[in-house]
Amino acid sequence: MLEVGVQSSLPNYHRSIDWDAFYRRYPVPDVFERTRWRWSADEMRAFQNEQFLDLVKTGWKNEFYRRRWSEVGLEPGDIKSIDDITKIPTFDSSDIKKDQEENPPFGLINGPVHALMQASPMKVQTSGGTTGKPRPTLYAPLEWEMNGLTMARVLYICGVRPGDRIQIPHTCSLGNAGWCAYKAAHDYLGALPITSGTGAVTSSRRQIELAMDWQTNVWYVRPEYSTQLAKVARDELNFDLRELKTKFLGCGLGPDTENTFRNQIEELWGCPVYDMYGTHEMGMGSFECQHKNGMHFMEDCTYFEIVGVDDGKPMPNGEVGNMVCTILHRRQQPMIRFNLRDLTRIVSTGRCECGSCFRRMQKMLGRSDTMVRIRGVSIWPQACLPAIKSDPRTTGEWLCIADRVVRDGVVRDEMTVQVEVRNDAGGWDGLKEHIEKRLHSDLGLKIAIELVEEDALIQWSNRGREGKPHRILDRRFEKK
Ligand SMILES: [Zn+2]
Repeated sequence: MLEVGVQSSLPNYHRSIDWDAFYRRYPVPDVFERTRWRWSADEMRAFQNEQFLDLVKTGWKNEFYRRRWSEVGLEPGDIKSIDDITKIPTFDSSDIKKDQEENPPFGLINGPVHALMQASPMKVQTSGGTTGKPRPTLYAPLEWEMNGLTMARVLYICGVRPGDRIQIPHTCSLGNAGWCAYKAAHDYLGALPITSGTGAVTSSRRQIELAMDWQTNVWYVRPEYSTQLAKVARDELNFDLRELKTKFLGCGLGPDTENTFRNQIEELWGCPVYDMYGTHEMGMGSFECQHKNGMHFMEDCTYFEIVGVDDGKPMPNGEVGNMVCTILHRRQQPMIRFNLRDLTRIVSTGRCECGSCFRRMQKMLGRSDTMVRIRGVSIWPQACLPAIKSDPRTTGEWLCIADRVVRDGVVRDEMTVQVEVRNDAGGWDGLKEHIEKRLHSDLGLKIAIELVEEDALIQWSNRGREGKPHRILDRRFEKK
């Protein structure tokens, strides 16, 4: 309680948001499902247009955008509707990285953070990258709430109701996933979040015991980890996870276009698995409804475009290209035409059986640059270079191979790096161990090294030939 006549000057989370206005603009899950979720495409376009024009004003006040936009000759007033969005230049994570290196630690894109914090609380989250420093994103209260609210909408549409128990084997640390699910369940759905953390925090065996004791009936979980849980249940507890009578599992399945991975998990758990796609910069981007026929974009929060990988030009529906997102609600670290460099295609703009016209994408079909995610860690194959070059016995050529290994029903993604050794190296003693150790320290992930003879990788490295070297072979989603 505030003492009468005594005013606090401290930033206060609860008082930072006009909650009624917030919920009018972004309705809570059940209201959303009955109203906006069913809007026609025209109604949605009108809403997006209004939100977008307001966002552009924020862009002009943000030094990161103002400079970039001025450089291409854009002037305030040039953008008259969302139809003009392609006049705005896109940018990607490398631009944020550069901005933050030049203007440490948060970059111009996050504004004058110290000054802003005199009036408003902030939360910092980061990307999961391992090369160099992670990219921080700052969230003001509204942006932080939206993280929870968008996740809550998804969970509601997938079937979560008050009283459900959601187990969340993601650790609430600098990554977003655990926090979003926790806030969604707790703040918006009346569901009990069981924030057990990853297997490193709570062992797999203990995770299952908690689920049995507390009657977990929904999981927000990494898909590979869900297979590990099934094995531990079977081998250590003599328990079939299907007995949990789980409503569903929510997870990011990645480019599982043949549904082999999904089918495998559904078989182990005896419940549907719904695919979700989001990133640290964007939050929740798209998700499946219970009909599993494409992933609905979160249309009223994020405006999506699909553009050509090479020319950045808009792609026709059905064609594969990079996703470019504009986050309509975000004012703290605004995101205006951010090229995610994740590939997809639009599969439907029509009304889904669930009643929604929110456009649907196929799946996240992979990265258009060379980054891969292994067990939740982003890896740029190029980041192996210093380690490979650190011993003069290598030719300096390498190839990263990502594989999906199934052992005893447990799915695990692994990376092996093949490294060429010079013919005149004079012996391979200690070389493998040296590079392994160095890579582990550079990337923060244990990676197996396989030494190969000089020129064994020539079809990939293209050394002395036309064409760029290829540093990554991703075999995880190949049909076996
Ligand atoms: Zn649907």
